[in-house]
Amino acid sequence: MSVKKITKSDFAGFVDALIRTENVIGVQAKGDRFDFAPLESAKDLRLDYDVTLQPPKKFFLPPTEVLVTFELGGPYKSQLDCRKFILMGVHPYDVIAINQMDELFRQDNYDAHYMTRRNNASIIACDVARASDHVFASSMNTAVVKEGYDILLTDIGDSYLMDAPTVKGGDLLAKAKGAVDADPKALSQRDAVWAHNKKSLNKHELKCDPAYLPRLLAKAYKHPVWEERAKTCFACGSCNQVCPTCYCFNVQDDVNWDLKTGERTRAWDGCLLDGFTKVAPDHEFRKARADRFRHRLYRKAAYVPQKIGGQIACVGCGRCVAACLPDIANPVSVCNRLIDDLGIG
Ligand code: SF4
Ligand code: SF4
Repeated sequence: MSVKKITKSDFAGFVDALIRTENVIGVQAKGDRFDFAPLESAKDLRLDYDVTLQPPKKFFLPPTEVLVTFELGGPYKSQLDCRKFILMGVHPYDVIAINQMDELFRQDNYDAHYMTRRNNASIIACDVARASDHVFASSMNTAVVKEGYDILLTDIGDSYLMDAPTVKGGDLLAKAKGAVDADPKALSQRDAVWAHNKKSLNKHELKCDPAYLPRLLAKAYKHPVWEERAKTCFACGSCNQVCPTCYCFNVQDDVNWDLKTGERTRAWDGCLLDGFTKVAPDHEFRKARADRFRHRLYRKAAYVPQKIGGQIACVGCGRCVAACLPDIANPVSVCNRLIDDLGIG
């Protein structure tokens, strides 16, 4: 389908029409910050936001969810959430994080709970209109995105461009009254937005190509930076919680008071938290805070890339930088320190 152009007032009409018939979640102001929440009116939608407090992962992997219920002598009952929804205003780096999660939850043990939500979602992405204080998507090659969304919106002043490469996106776009084929001038305005964002979303500049990071970490396991940084780490897990690519969870069975029925739940966990690696009989194999701090970076730039074709599992959203009170979590600052000490190559 060709790229369409729609005026901002027609776009608001499109969003209000969607809200009347669909479950729409969109970016909204929360004080002077922003977050995803159910949308009740197009006027609440803020596509000019810098970054959301939480990434959109919670709509695919909720902080807690019941996986199955069970009863004595009876069958397990899978609890799948099959509601359809539209997620509106997802920035390119978060789309890329969702694409990575899709790959991880699809491979090996197919995760029916995640994938059901994912298949029932339509993603309306939007190019970044305002850089946040800590974004470094330009350094991570995640400032613009070419796939993984159903519609991509680009603000070109008085209008949006709407690109709908999927059937789901095309069906939604067909409902946009007033949308017309984008003219060459509008398309070149979009190219200018992309070129600008590829350079400007870079509040922290990584000193190497992200593709080099696995090789950098291969020689950094015993570097003193892990101990140095971990000295002031609170082990609060905030860097895990706000990260769009952190997906670790814990699974627990709870039996009800009747001792006949119960449920299996899963809840977010985080590798920085004490107890994350505790196993029976009370053995904790990554107890030292420095080991946990190091593991987070290795997971992002060494272990997960091995599972998803070399993609680095940090998309440069900068949320962990903003969330970390002692200011030690910034992946760029850690990696640049390693580059300074160990060199490139
Ligand atoms: S590690 Fe930090 S900057 Fe990278 S994706 Fe996670 S929260 Fe964003
Ligand atoms: S947010 Fe900072 S202090 Fe908290 S666990 Fe992460 S690195 Fe440690």
